[in-house]
Amino acid sequence: MNPLILDGKVLAKNIEQTLAERTSALLRHAPGRTPILATILVGNDPASATYVKMKGNACRRIGMDSRSIELSEQTTTEELTSVINELNADPNVHGILLQHPVPHQIDERYCFDAIALEKDVDGVTCLGFGRMSMGSVAYGSATPAGIMTLLKHYEIPMKGKHAVILGRSPILGKPMAAMVLNEDCTVTICHSRTQDLPSHVKQADILIAAVGKPAFVQESWIKPGSVIVDAGYHPGGIGDVDPKAFALASAYTPVPGGVGPMTISTLMSQTLSAAELALGI
Ligand code: NAP
Repeated sequence: MNPLILDGKVLAKNIEQTLAERTSALLRHAPGRTPILATILVGNDPASATYVKMKGNACRRIGMDSRSIELSEQTTTEELTSVINELNADPNVHGILLQHPVPHQIDERYCFDAIALEKDVDGVTCLGFGRMSMGSVAYGSATPAGIMTLLKHYEIPMKGKHAVILGRSPILGKPMAAMVLNEDCTVTICHSRTQDLPSHVKQADILIAAVGKPAFVQESWIKPGSVIVDAGYHPGGIGDVDPKAFALASAYTPVPGGVGPMTISTLMSQTLSAAELALGI
């Protein structure tokens, strides 16, 4: 049987339509109070500039707005923190996105944690991570939260399944592990020091690849019938999994059109929720 394609592009488009309707309802309730996502781009990385632009465009597609803040490559931790504090205090700003990565002289963790919890719509603060992990209310890190929305939409069974996460980054692997654990998966987290990685991957009912290396996961590592989520995106439309592996899966996320669109729609959804909360809706 052909594997099921977990189509993030179509789902994200449908979610955007719902978000546009929710934004219109918000504006009827609070005229002139357009939800605003502030985006902070530090330095000259062209890929980061593209991601920030895509997020601003997504805001406008659903009737929200974005406020773009661009800071120089030489920005210090103190300067960036001061910008974040101003945005925290601005009642017209509902969400704050600090684009990762920032230049090396900046203490990124310190700056992420300076974002007020109620505006942490990209789910990057330690406090938000802790609350989400404990199953309490917090905005999830956008990429893993988007993956969860996709898995739930396609009714992928999770209870008791063995989820293997490749990667333990603060924005992807770690929160991903907490989210699938909260859905009663048995979880294995692999990283660059993991021994005999293929043997771990072979046990996965649900494999989530977030290693940042093109076509890294080999066809021979895959357990037939497993669900493969490929968070990677590399030039030429290649993810972190060798595309030949997808034929063995029962379901998989395509690259592109799987995880990427879900990340942006999650950010939009969480920004709108933050605006609704701030406006008492
Ligand atoms: P990252 O911060 O570079 O983390 C990569 C993780 O992979 C690390 O935990 C690292 O282990 C692990 N790793 C590296 N080499 C490995 C190896 N040979 N064997 C096993 N594990 C290995 O990357 P990230 O930010 O989490 O992103 C991961 C992927 O997701 C990238 O392809 C990125 O482009 C993609 N991504 C996509 C979206 C989206 O919206 N679609 C968003 C964010 C990221 P150590 O911790 O031991 O170093």
